[in-house]
Amino acid sequence: MKTRSFFVGELEKGAASVLITGDELKHLRGVLRLREGEAVTIFNGRGLVVKGVIQRIVKQAATVSVLGEDTESRESSVHVVLLQALVKGDKNDFIVQKAVELGATGIVFYAAKRTVPLLGPGRGTDRLIRWRRIAIEAAKQCGRSVIPGISLADGIEEAVAGHACPRMFKAGKGFLKIMLLESETTRTIKDMLRTAPAAKAAALLIGPEGGFTDEDVVHAAKNGFTPVSLGRRILRAETAAIAALTIVQYELDGMD
Ligand code: SAH
Repeated sequence: MKTRSFFVGELEKGAASVLITGDELKHLRGVLRLREGEAVTIFNGRGLVVKGVIQRIVKQAATVSVLGEDTESRESSVHVVLLQALVKGDKNDFIVQKAVELGATGIVFYAAKRTVPLLGPGRGTDRLIRWRRIAIEAAKQCGRSVIPGISLADGIEEAVAGHACPRMFKAGKGFLKIMLLESETTRTIKDMLRTAPAAKAAALLIGPEGGFTDEDVVHAAKNGFTPVSLGRRILRAETAAIAALTIVQYELDGMD
């Protein structure tokens, strides 16, 4: 059986032991009922994964002694950031979970002009905490060593400017800026990806349930985004996100 994996953000390279606390400890003790002497895997969400053994479990923490680094990577060779308009209720949670499974490097939610559920004051932080927890769970479940960063942009202007992932947006060549536009009739996502087979990074811009406004389209184009179609049928925003992420991984990473 695969050893259970736990997220410890403070884990650093070369550490001889690690403490598991908080939610992760609750899970270890209350749900999985692991005991001293059992093998576990710890990851820091930034690519470092180690194998270890539980030394001691006390009220506040479980101490794990590190046996060695696990260098087998399940990360994709492509970097994909999802720029996603906020959608209704739990659908955002669903998008976070699926985007992590499908290898996204980052997720930026933005409130579109036609976004129905504008977040009330202070609600944004609660949501971010919740989405980060979902991302950790999804990363654990699918064996990823990197937890994608999640942020909340004010509007589409901020999302397409790329403040949340400046290094990618500055990279220029080999970085595809793709707008998934429901009204696009000429260029498909397939055309775009097949003309850039060596690309190793992409941003995917997805609209809200109400679709993009003409102003959004102009704004995205000004920021270098190319509008493409996902086919003749109009997909729900969450379906479009999953489809676009899958297609990009398939074309540019080969899922090998
Ligand atoms: N209400 C709109 C549809 C919005 S679909 C209408 O009826 O026209 C929500 C988002 O999913 C869109 O903004 C777009 O980003 C994406 N999307 C859905 N279907 C698509 C398609 N066939 N091609 C490209 N993008 C699509």
